[in-house]
Amino acid sequence: MKKILLLVLIPFFGFSQNVNDLFSKKGEIYFSFQYKNKLQLNMISDIVSIDHKTNADLAYAYANKSEFAKFLQQGISYQLIEKKPLNYINNSKNNWDYYPTYQQYVNMMTAFADSFPNICKLHNLGTLSSGREILIVQISKNVGVKENEPSFLYTSSMHGDELAGYILSLRLIDHILNGYGNSLELTQLVDNIDIWINPLANPDGAYYGGNQDVWSATRYNANWIDLNRNYPDPQDGPHPDGNAYQNETTIFMGLADTVSFTISANMHGGAEVCNYPWDTWSTLTADDNWWEYVSHEYADSCQANSGNGYFNYLNDGITNGNDWYEVDGGRQDYMNYFKYCREFTLELSDDKTPDPNDLPELWDANYPSLLNYIEQSLFGLRGIVTDSITGLPLKAKVEILNHDIDSSHVYSNLPIGNYHRHLYQGNYNITFSKNGYYPKTINASVLNNNTNIEDVKLVPFSTTQVEEINPSKNTNTTFDLLGRTRNTKSKIQLIKTESGTLKKQIKIQ
Ligand SMILES: [Zn+2]
Repeated sequence: MKKILLLVLIPFFGFSQNVNDLFSKKGEIYFSFQYKNKLQLNMISDIVSIDHKTNADLAYAYANKSEFAKFLQQGISYQLIEKKPLNYINNSKNNWDYYPTYQQYVNMMTAFADSFPNICKLHNLGTLSSGREILIVQISKNVGVKENEPSFLYTSSMHGDELAGYILSLRLIDHILNGYGNSLELTQLVDNIDIWINPLANPDGAYYGGNQDVWSATRYNANWIDLNRNYPDPQDGPHPDGNAYQNETTIFMGLADTVSFTISANMHGGAEVCNYPWDTWSTLTADDNWWEYVSHEYADSCQANSGNGYFNYLNDGITNGNDWYEVDGGRQDYMNYFKYCREFTLELSDDKTPDPNDLPELWDANYPSLLNYIEQSLFGLRGIVTDSITGLPLKAKVEILNHDIDSSHVYSNLPIGNYHRHLYQGNYNITFSKNGYYPKTINASVLNNNTNIEDVKLVPFSTTQVEEINPSKNTNTTFDLLGRTRNTKSKIQLIKTESGTLKKQIKIQ
């Protein structure tokens, strides 16, 4: 479907007229170029948006006008790839073999929540200036109630023309909701995990040509910004792309601030491979063996459920992100480094916008993997951290000794105090710590695809409490604090602290 046009290198001083022509119809162009080595590719990745199709021989890239102006300064020859609008012929429009109109999409998301109100909630995370909404469904037993369960996130199509995951996400929601109470596997996932699915993270890109179809979809958003270069970066800091955070970006950063996801995946297209962290630097994560394990689990299951040749790109369907090509400002690294969430990037199809007739086959290949990955949320080390005296849940740091690096530790989360540390099988020493408490180190073993529950009570430094009181009142008063403590009775009496001031002390009986 794609026609490649060979262009002669345009000298930089001739930029304005020629480049204005290139961008006269659309704010982004797609092109390829030969690169000499990895270093050069990574340098150019700072300038334009290197595409997932990039391989050892040839790089593919997107650019807006200002990005392309900088690229031209490098003096590298390129080939422009004309992206013709797609329009696959499809007559059936059933069994998830079509792309919905924007309104059909909104109606579907609404219908999921309306039809399954006990286990599904629809959230509008934000409305873009176009009027299009970023929608997400939350699926869980007792949906919306905080429980001792991990929160899991799928999000798709932040690159608006990478749309396999858009349909697979919609179908996955439908599959899980209809399977609840009918399939043991699906029922267990819904009973024990807080599942969030956002099928369309860049609706302005996907429906660039209008709300009726996706045939003119663009990678960038309406401001011609690549959303997957727009996040704070572990190495490059805030605004690594030099642009303001886009509305789509702040919406997803806000979601990650609100919900403590422990595992997530970001669905893309243009290749068929699992891309795991890091993208920004070549250092491996502390949990590289876990990443290889879950990535292979994903890829192997896809291969087993499809015809020959699907999902076997690079290292048998998996790759370390930076090994492939460097990305700065990507969402994957943001979620891992800043939000303590294990996120990988799923490249679901060589065709960014697959022929809709191929979507059922893509579903068959991927849905067991998609469910396996959700189920990984339940595995590893988990438990609840509480105050040893009050029994109240704590937000504590959970750190693996001689293992954690580059922000790979996690935290327990309020209001439950639950933590979830996904780990490759082995024996670990784990330290739980919080200001004002004695740190506690435990030893625990973990098996792959198994759960080890370790609840931890942290002892406060001192039972001396908080509040200065007026000594003329309350002298020698003791009273119970029933209701503030669990399973313990405590009394308050006046004591002298080191500085000589009088304080209340809670004594545990
Ligand atoms: Zn992408």
